[in-house]
Amino acid sequence: MRIEIDRNAGVCPGVLRAIRLCEDELKKNGELIAVGPIIHNSKEVERLASLGLKTVAQEVFETNGASTENYQEKRLFIRAHGISPILRQRFESADCELIDGTCPVVLRSQKWIQKYAEAGYQIIIIGKPTHAEVLGLKGAAPNAAHVAMTIEDLSQLDFQKKTMVIAQTTINQKKFEELTHFLKLKVSNLVIKNTICRAVSSRHENLREFAASVDMVLFVGGRHSSNTNELFQICLSRNPDSHLIESPEEIQSDWLKDVKAVGISGSASTPLWQMEQVRAHLLSLDSTPI
Ligand code: SF4
Repeated sequence: MRIEIDRNAGVCPGVLRAIRLCEDELKKNGELIAVGPIIHNSKEVERLASLGLKTVAQEVFETNGASTENYQEKRLFIRAHGISPILRQRFESADCELIDGTCPVVLRSQKWIQKYAEAGYQIIIIGKPTHAEVLGLKGAAPNAAHVAMTIEDLSQLDFQKKTMVIAQTTINQKKFEELTHFLKLKVSNLVIKNTICRAVSSRHENLREFAASVDMVLFVGGRHSSNTNELFQICLSRNPDSHLIESPEEIQSDWLKDVKAVGISGSASTPLWQMEQVRAHLLSLDSTPI
């Protein structure tokens, strides 16, 4: 059996940067609390926990102001998705030390939102309303920003206002095009910022080719990650014999029947070590590797 790891797979630069920063801080100073899971990948979160990282759900901080004070003077880690300026302010007022792993691409989006909101624009964020990055983006201009995922969401808005539309960095390109096309027809003063992250979107075509080049795909990623689900659907569209797994133990031996070439890929939040583990597991199941 031929086993190939997708050379374009692996953690995106923003999340990788956050993980390295977190590891360095844990080595230097020990105790550190992450504001929400650093990565949508339970195995990697467990690995970081074994190094001393404690994770507290972001909702705890977002929905209950009082609990922020419980973290008075603690060291808090901000993940790549970022947080809203309001939450940042609350942490600063509680004298927390902030270790900032916000991805520079996300920070740039927050700055654009603030700049256009200050200039009197209505802001539309195309994204999932509950996604942590979107909460942070909306929080950059809470009175001016709206979140939309469908044409119906957009229909509630005032098209007479000058408008800036921006994307959640991991949103589907077609979804963004569909909604911005609608807005172009309705809004005369429209600024479009396509902030879909190239580290994610550039993978789509490569992944289609990769999935088509093997008999079966094992796609490794967290089931709660939107990027995992989107990339897995791309695999399925090119290779119906694709399986989403979180760990090697989920591989069923009957999946391997008559399979001569297995491709292993993963999402923007799947570290290489997890794909290597899957390869090692496959080798242990197969007595005739090529
Ligand atoms: S997907 Fe892109 S924007 Fe999001 S964290 Fe990774 S590099 Fe940054």
